Amino acid sequence: MPELPEVETVRRGLAPTMEGARLERLELRRPDLRFPLPRDFAARVEGRRIEALSRRAKYLLIDLEDGATVIAHLGMSGSFRIEAGAATDMPGVFHHERSKDEKHDHVLFHLERQDGPVRVIYNDPRRFGFMDLVHRAELDDYPAFRDLGPEPVGNRLSADYLATRFADRSQPLKSALLDQKVIAGLGNIYVCEALWRAHLSPTRKVSTLVTKTGKPKPELTLLASSIREVIADAIEAGGSSLRDHIQTDGTLGYFQHFFRAYDREGRECLTDGCGGTVERIVQSGRSTFYCRRCQK
Ligand SMILES: [Zn+2]
Repeated sequence: MPELPEVETVRRGLAPTMEGARLERLELRRPDLRFPLPRDFAARVEGRRIEALSRRAKYLLIDLEDGATVIAHLGMSGSFRIEAGAATDMPGVFHHERSKDEKHDHVLFHLERQDGPVRVIYNDPRRFGFMDLVHRAELDDYPAFRDLGPEPVGNRLSADYLATRFADRSQPLKSALLDQKVIAGLGNIYVCEALWRAHLSPTRKVSTLVTKTGKPKPELTLLASSIREVIADAIEAGGSSLRDHIQTDGTLGYFQHFFRAYDREGRECLTDGCGGTVERIVQSGRSTFYCRRCQK
């Protein structure tokens, strides 16, 4: 499953090609991905200009000029590939390598731009991705978005907000942060990384970060900024490797260098002066990586 920074690098990679282009033809090579594709999908989008490419949690939003929005989710193995003449580019920086096998090309956006035609191709070997088409005015009521918490980037994710969600709750921090109603689009990897940065144990009860009057304790203020920073850093680093075209076919290398706690079981903790060892525990069926010595 791609995490939010991966989806954002895809969005940033596609935006220069797709924004402002006209969607001449939508070629559907099968009737479904994880779910059936929208009824009359091609007829409802062909001929429209693409106004903007945006994102909500791990969903890409392709905004069309008539007020409709195509919602796209990459599932487990989905990717987009840009083909302009003989040139091919696959925007995005992925933890796992992505397929370029044409037999898994399922949805083809044939675009017309001022500088000529270009194809944006959705490839998905395992077909856990999906696409839907809704009116922009109904986006907030869309089932996957209705109950989403704030994005982990930007000012809405504040310590005061987290205090309102954590007061009087006995849940462990790890599972509270994975709850999409609390924070939209935060996944296992970046929860581990944010908790390591904030020196907080994943097993700590969330209510211990809130004062009796419902205010955030300093640890919670540090956690809120750690979450925002780890996501921003990952997007920035992914974006810079994208700009440099180091590994456009999905990097196994890059994100692994970025991790400070995730997937580092048995290795030395990287917190200055700590000297502890990263261990792996299992919470709600998911691996958690943390250092018992400096994360309290
Ligand atoms: Zn440590």
